[in-house]
Amino acid sequence: MENWELIIIGAGAGGLAAGIYGARSGLKTLVIDEKIAGGTAADAPIVENYPGFSQISGGELAQKMALHCKKTGATINEIETVTALDLTGEKKIVKTSRAEYEAKAVIIATGSHYREIGVKGEKEFRGKGVSYCGVCDGPFFKGKRVLVIGGGNSAATTTLYLSGIAAEVLVVHRRNSFRAEDALVKDITSKPNVKVSWNTEVKEIKGDKLVTKVVLFDNKAQTTRHLAVDAVFVQIGEAPNSQLARDAGLEVNEHGYIKADVFQRTSVAGVYAAGDVTSHPVKQVGTAVGQGITAALEAYSYIRRPYYRR
Ligand code: NAP
Repeated sequence: MENWELIIIGAGAGGLAAGIYGARSGLKTLVIDEKIAGGTAADAPIVENYPGFSQISGGELAQKMALHCKKTGATINEIETVTALDLTGEKKIVKTSRAEYEAKAVIIATGSHYREIGVKGEKEFRGKGVSYCGVCDGPFFKGKRVLVIGGGNSAATTTLYLSGIAAEVLVVHRRNSFRAEDALVKDITSKPNVKVSWNTEVKEIKGDKLVTKVVLFDNKAQTTRHLAVDAVFVQIGEAPNSQLARDAGLEVNEHGYIKADVFQRTSVAGVYAAGDVTSHPVKQVGTAVGQGITAALEAYSYIRRPYYRR
């Protein structure tokens, strides 16, 4: 059993910010992630709203954060999956695919995952033309015709990125207006190779070995048509990765997001939550960073007790 003072689960923006503040506070800090450090922000083609960086790719921003976290003295264990948590006692037990750890406090920053549209062909063609990450898979479709589903900021930033690679980008949105920020909407609608199909739903994704076409339904005209495409980028939002926390008895809201107060305290003493897995209404890199900082400083107070609150 390895002993740590602070264990942070998840190395996205929230977890890495918590790692920086934990280590700088002098806590023996371990950050664990089942993938490579960076979280979903690393998948964002372009980030234009993180203060200090007028334009940076999500991947580069994530790399800078991970490097910063390591430089402060935190240990980051990548490709290590947390399998079970025992958090109710004073000693917090974190079991992983590699080891068993004990910590005085735990921060859960497990983020969220891409939501699926749930149509026929989506699972079958995942990785064969169906993608949830423009920056990861967009370059495979240079000069091709691609489809983006969604009307939020994710759909808009992915469309913008793909418009520089693909010959044609068709955005399919189920309503007749975007919920993405105005600046992004202006950017994408000014691109000559971007077309938007309003009031349109994807009903099926078809192909042979790879995606070849989609079945589209116009929910206003009530008509169905087939469209030849080489790829489908599903960009309809995210859902929390909170199963581990729920299994460990943490309270979640009706959508499964971990309930945390303004100090990022969860329903269990010594356990904090930060970033997209929490019930906080704003899901941005900047807000995840702020929550991670608060969680780490609260964990420090809990462990060393200078300003302990309960
Ligand atoms: P979002 O804002 O919740 O938008 C999801 C979109 O998908 C909506 O347009 C929604 O349609 C549509 N949708 C949901 N379920 C659907 C379904 N089953 N079939 C078809 N369409 C469906 O999600 P997001 O765009 O991922 O953004 C999430 C958060 O991250 C937001 O706070 C956003 O600002 C932030 N974000 C920021 C950036 C950035 O600033 N660079 C980039 C990405 C995300 P309706 O409009 O009809 O509900």
